[in-house]
Amino acid sequence: MGGKGLTANAVVTQRGAVLLGDSVACDAFDETRPLRVVTHAHADHLIGLSRSLRSCEKVLMTTATRDLTRVMNGQLALNDGSVEILDYGETIEYGEERVTFAKANHILGAAQVLVEDADDKRVAYTGDFKLDGTQPLLDCDVLVVEATYGSPSFRRSFELDVEELLVSMVEKRLRRGTVYVFGYHGKLQEVMQILHRADVSVPFVMPERVFRVSKVCEQHGMQLGCLALSTENEGKELLDGNLPCVAFYHMNSRGSVGLDGSRICVSGWEFHSPCRQIGDKEHLVALSDHSDFNGLIEYVRRCKPKRVVTDNYRVSHGVTLAREISKRLGISAVAMPK
Ligand SMILES: [Zn+2]
Repeated sequence: MGGKGLTANAVVTQRGAVLLGDSVACDAFDETRPLRVVTHAHADHLIGLSRSLRSCEKVLMTTATRDLTRVMNGQLALNDGSVEILDYGETIEYGEERVTFAKANHILGAAQVLVEDADDKRVAYTGDFKLDGTQPLLDCDVLVVEATYGSPSFRRSFELDVEELLVSMVEKRLRRGTVYVFGYHGKLQEVMQILHRADVSVPFVMPERVFRVSKVCEQHGMQLGCLALSTENEGKELLDGNLPCVAFYHMNSRGSVGLDGSRICVSGWEFHSPCRQIGDKEHLVALSDHSDFNGLIEYVRRCKPKRVVTDNYRVSHGVTLAREISKRLGISAVAMPK
């Protein structure tokens, strides 16, 4: 390894690339790495993807992430020959290194990444994840961990009741007509699945992009209910008449859609109660697809790395999380980039 210490095996660059071992760059383009990994289809993990497609030898992602990326990032055709599918539990060899994906519970297709070298040194990156449902956790020597809720103030104690609460809120509001749900791609489909499982059987109405993401989720086994486009007659009539249906819109449309209706925003950024009123007829429901602070610490505690790097590029809590990991677990930890 040319005298490299453990630190050299995992770096988060100033441009957000998570470098693992000698050949892999995750979630942003890096000109020194022949392999690009896309852990999942959220925009802050697709950085520089078109450059990676042009200049990397391989761009690795799960089948579901490829399908979602096509829809969510419409301008990228992904028909480039460099895309190579790597599904959960599969390993690809490159030079002396082996790259393996494991499931991360975040959005459909999300993966954790493990890179092992010829000396069986193991470097891993969690990607975005919620501890519950993420398995296997990756035993490793060096771990890069996401840090979205990396501060001790980001702890939830109410997680288990949230889905039930969401269902009863929607059911109650449907008696007065259309219920609008705002959230990010992936999260919206999770809400559809929760409502469908709870036998909320009204139509789910949505604009084109949300509809296409939902169709990909269905193709990959999620059951979402009866979906209608907001731009077609059935959907239009339901929305115009304020009839009982659930309308699903991306968070970006929150300021322009369903302003007079019952509104529910689903977001992880709420820690004190599972539900909070944020407007006249608007509530925020704390449905998160990230680990809270306790989940992040628990992941590190269980996989016992010798050293941890916190991702300080995508959020600003990496420094706090690194400090807490050192303090609570006695494991050397550093935030990157500085
Ligand atoms: Zn994400």
